[in-house]
Amino acid sequence: MTLKDSVTLYPEKVFPLKNPPGDNEVVDIAPGVKWLRSPLPLSLDHINCYLLKDGDGWCVVDTGMNTKSARDNWLAIVEQHCDNLPIKRVIVTHQHPDHVGLAGWLCESFRARLLMSEQEYLCSRVYLNYGQADSSWEVEEFFKRSAMSQHTLDGLTTSNSFYDSVSALPGSYHQLNDTQILTIGDNEWEVIITRGHAQAHVSLYCQALDLYISGDQVLPRITSNVSVISSAPESSPLTDWYEAHDIVAQRVPDSVLVLPAHELPFYGVQQRLRDVIDHHEERLEKVIAICGTSKNAQVITNLLFEKEFDSFQNYLAVGECLAHLHRLMEQGKITRTLESDVYLYTS
Ligand SMILES: [Zn+2]
Repeated sequence: MTLKDSVTLYPEKVFPLKNPPGDNEVVDIAPGVKWLRSPLPLSLDHINCYLLKDGDGWCVVDTGMNTKSARDNWLAIVEQHCDNLPIKRVIVTHQHPDHVGLAGWLCESFRARLLMSEQEYLCSRVYLNYGQADSSWEVEEFFKRSAMSQHTLDGLTTSNSFYDSVSALPGSYHQLNDTQILTIGDNEWEVIITRGHAQAHVSLYCQALDLYISGDQVLPRITSNVSVISSAPESSPLTDWYEAHDIVAQRVPDSVLVLPAHELPFYGVQQRLRDVIDHHEERLEKVIAICGTSKNAQVITNLLFEKEFDSFQNYLAVGECLAHLHRLMEQGKITRTLESDVYLYTS
């Protein structure tokens, strides 16, 4: 689930593969590594998924949302591009519906095993059963204290959009842990777990192939949503996100071709990591300037993004604004006071 905006435009040479695969198509990245796209019914209209040759079958990384067109696309690709070999394993980078949506369906259809981090697996199963924003006094308080409207709260609590876009998950899974080496076919992939965009996002680095399957951890031009959410109202995901960038910078060399979950494969991971942090630094400065006089989170969000959002997008935008406010509070650059049950932030 993403609220993404363009940050930096890169020179052409950064993107060696300029034509993404269409429906029922794959693009060969390296021996035994194929790239496909699953269509999404969103403004961001695709997710990149990858097929890794896995002995006498294939391992899938990320899956798409549970729609008929996305399921048909998978069936056609397995029939036409997988050498009559089945999908044996499904790796999901994190629990957002565009990534996990068809994992259960693929595992059930092909008797494949599911591999996820523990938090992302458990979180997906909870969301499937209970929705993302069960109302409780503290959830309602979170919306009120952030000055979000009842409309935003209602938009979130009256539908379980997760349930609509994610197929039932298997009752068992195989846990991925940070630094674990995963053997897939002839290659070893290092599991890198990071926080900020999700609780335990998995990305995969292969030294032999010089490839990094980055999920939503590193994207070439848009930035991943980093939000305080109603189920963890006092969290500081932007601080987690900064740490995540340090972790990837230390463990993934600049030579890799990055295989991201959205947009095009690209070179230049280290520069991109720095650019995203620069983007957040700029945004932090802007928040400090906006808070020269005390304001609530919804007003700060409106001034920060300067665009209209629907209720769910507004929830993500306020969440992203709060992520910046919480980091600034940690740094002692913003103070928060409670007035008439609404938090006011002052720099
Ligand atoms: Zn995501």
